[in-house]
Amino acid sequence: SVDDVGEETVTTVALKDVTKVFRDGTVAVDSINLDVNDGEFMVLLGPSGCGKSTVLRMVAGLEEPTTGAVMLNGELANDLPPRDRKIAMVFQDFALYPHMSVGDNIAFPLKLAGVEPAPRGERVTDVASALGIGDVLPRRPSQLSGGQRQRVAMGRAIVRRPGLFLMDEPLSNLDSGLRAELRAEISGLTRELGVTTMYVTHDQAEALTMADRVAIMRKGVLQDVGTPTQVYNRPATLYVAAFLGSPRMNLLEASVYVHLDRYVTLTLGDQALYLPWDDIRSRAVAHYHGERIVVGMRAEALTPVAPDSPGDVLHGRIRYLEHHGHESLAFLDIGATAIMVDEIGALPDGDTPTGQRGLRRFSQVMQRLTVRTSRE
Ligand code: ATP
Repeated sequence: SVDDVGEETVTTVALKDVTKVFRDGTVAVDSINLDVNDGEFMVLLGPSGCGKSTVLRMVAGLEEPTTGAVMLNGELANDLPPRDRKIAMVFQDFALYPHMSVGDNIAFPLKLAGVEPAPRGERVTDVASALGIGDVLPRRPSQLSGGQRQRVAMGRAIVRRPGLFLMDEPLSNLDSGLRAELRAEISGLTRELGVTTMYVTHDQAEALTMADRVAIMRKGVLQDVGTPTQVYNRPATLYVAAFLGSPRMNLLEASVYVHLDRYVTLTLGDQALYLPWDDIRSRAVAHYHGERIVVGMRAEALTPVAPDSPGDVLHGRIRYLEHHGHESLAFLDIGATAIMVDEIGALPDGDTPTGQRGLRRFSQVMQRLTVRTSRE
């Protein structure tokens, strides 16, 4: 019966020291360790060529690891053929059968598995309505929009109720509005089905909005794994700090000095931040006493304040302002270096520059800006 088709056998994936070296010597994946939990939506994120697709292809069984183990549901799967893995895949260049109706396209995997027409039709109707394409089932793929075609491809992939869903840049051929709409739908649908998902993208907005956890790769090496909040706020490496977020995180060299009467100074260029001992930032840097470190500050964590504000403030000269519709960025010279400050809309003295003219006046009047750093 239909219930025997594609029972949810795969629920977890574990990569143990997985390396892939292609015949020409390219090390596409370099000793990766990664666990994907039952029902989790794991996004693999990284720039083009970093090895994301190769990881996915090894999980699917389309590539064999050079060394290391691919475990599916706790069992070694290195030699398991793709068809025995109960995995569904959707690619960027998904191909639908042009001569078949949408309904037949979605039903095709069930037909191959020998499911009877009646239960097959029922399952197709369910999947199509979950994807919002219930009304286009009789049409041909050529009569659909790009977004509808993508939904059909997803429907065809999930109709067998796979235990694991693999998606490689499934939205990259769509326009930005549709991408945003579909990414909410995809993560909603996989959560509803409770299916474990691995999703490849180079788009960090996509990764951060869809993922339960994000795995960030660079040149075959896994840099960081964590929830979107973790990797955004506490990046494991400088690479991740600089890679995630728009605008990019301010990364500044600083010297740490721990004072015996229990406060910490961070010297940035010719300025210093004074951090009280009970500030979590003091705790984070205290063991680097006497050393130079790199401090990361997000633009949105810097708030304009009055120039005579005490404590953890930085003074800078405004180099230029950049307007982004609902927010503006200020680029400041703070002595030896430059930083970006977000949301300068609300000024400390109550003067609120709105729109281009207000901001221009603001930059003329206030050539200098003082910002308070936040505890985040
Ligand atoms: P993209 O987002 O551009 O698809 P990716 O992060 O998915 O990139 P992969 O496709 O996994 O990257 O490729 C990783 C590296 O391995 C790249 O340097 C690529 O050129 C190389 N590579 C991929 N397939 C092969 C192959 N069959 N033979 C040799 N090198 C390969």
